[in-house]
Amino acid sequence: MYKATYKAPQVEAMLTAVTGVDRVKTIESGHCTQCSKEVLGFDTDTYLREYLISGYCQSCQNKFILGKE
Ligand SMILES: [Zn+2]
Repeated sequence: MYKATYKAPQVEAMLTAVTGVDRVKTIESGHCTQCSKEVLGFDTDTYLREYLISGYCQSCQNKFILGKE
């Protein structure tokens, strides 16, 4: 089980309103906030740490953060 990083409740509510996705619940259920797929692990701890912040799975991090397919 994953534990999302802490953000102030106001920030969390704003993110949920903007993205339509509850970041904390999505991360705790082991899913991606971007593509909604189940997370299957990460290449390195750096990706895992990013997941706990943004909720992006490995392939979404490759695509949207690193800009590669
Ligand atoms: Zn994803």
